[in-house]
Parts: sequence; structure tokens; C-alpha cells
Amino acid sequence: MGAILRVFQPFVDFVYPPTCVSCDQLLEEGARHVCPACWKSIPRISRDHRLYVDTRGKILAQGIVDDLVSVFVFEKTGAFQELAHALKYEGFESIGLKLGRELGEVMKQWGVQAEVLIPVPLHKVKHRERGFNQSALIARGAAGVMKLPVKTDWLARTRNTRTQTQLSLEERERNVEGAFVVSEKGLDETEGKTVIIIDDVITTGSTIVSCAERLLEAGAAKIIAASAALAE
Ligand SMILES: [Zn+2]
Repeated sequence: MGAILRVFQPFVDFVYPPTCVSCDQLLEEGARHVCPACWKSIPRISRDHRLYVDTRGKILAQGIVDDLVSVFVFEKTGAFQELAHALKYEGFESIGLKLGRELGEVMKQWGVQAEVLIPVPLHKVKHRERGFNQSALIARGAAGVMKLPVKTDWLARTRNTRTQTQLSLEERERNVEGAFVVSEKGLDETEGKTVIIIDDVITTGSTIVSCAERLLEAGAAKIIAASAALAE
């Protein structure tokens, strides 16, 4: 898709001039999908941010995940929501990579050490429908900054779980229970590794914890959860 887009982009831009996904203003030359002002308007996570402290506390209390890293605050309205929507439903690969690079920079600043990045997998039916996994794009962006490999074939989603947006914490936990499995390849290679699991948005953390459980069972030494954003 990338090569075709590159060839046709100038024609597409002529007919549909590129505008910001959030404020609809025309974009300056060189900007992609979002204008600098909207990009800057997205609230960022810090180590002492209330949402970060709360979410990290809840996730780490389960004794499965060792640390949490995230970059942005997901608000129901706002530029991040528009970007995430465009990434998920319009397939803007460059948005995923951009968010991933930001995540990679934060992980570097926070001194996160690991050996491999694993995106939360989509079920193969959903992957086929969508054509890509947005978490894998974010992982690829982060991997470029951290100079780490991304493994998309170590972990698989065996159930096409319901969307979690309307579910309570308990329902979410049940929803993702047994949804993930480590592949033969993963079983061969996970042993002793420190793994960063990457999701697009973390809310309760039940999805990422479910992935982490499977990887620990497969022999991973340590699991770090990471996402482009945290949501309430
Ligand atoms: Zn804008």
C-alpha cells in the first residue's frame, strides 16, 4: 500500500488537499494528517500524572507486569481521539509510526531496557478486514527509536473478542480470558527475555495483562506494558 500511496499522493493531494484530522485546517507542506498546533494540544503523560499513577498502580498490583510506559492522555474529544480514529479506520500508517516514535523516545528517556517488542495481536479475521494491526505500527515506530526487534509471530489472538468500550473491568477481564496464545515460535524464543508489550490505548490494562500472563508462562523474564495513550 505504501508504494502505491507514494505514487498517487501528489494527485490525491491535488483533488483533496491535505487537512488536519482534528481541526480541518489545510496542512503546511511537510505536515502529515495533523497540524503542529493540534499535535501540541494533546496532553502528555508524565511519571507523576494522576492517570499514569492510578493505571500503573492497578496494573502492577496484579504482579504480572513490571512497569508501564505511555505518552498521551486519551480524551473522548480532542486531537488524539481523531488521530487514533484515522489510524484505525482510515489506515494512515504514518500516524501509527509517528505515535510509535514518540513512545520510543519516552521509553528511552525513562531508561526502559528490554530485548523485544510485541504488539497486542488482532484476531486474524479482524486483521484481514482491517488490513493492518495499529499496535504493530506503533511497535514498529518505537522499535526504530529503541533499535529493538518487533515480533508479530510470537503471540496470537485466538478469539475475536468483543469491543471493550462499554464493558466494566470485570467484564473486560472475562472478555480477554484465554484470548491469547503463544505460538510455537514464541515458545522457542521467549525464554528469559524482557518483553515490551505494545497496545494503542490502555484503559484497565486487562488486555495487556492477559498477553503478559501467556508470555510469562512461556518463560519471559520480565514484562513491560506500553501504549501510545492511557484512557480513563
Ligand atoms: Zn489541527
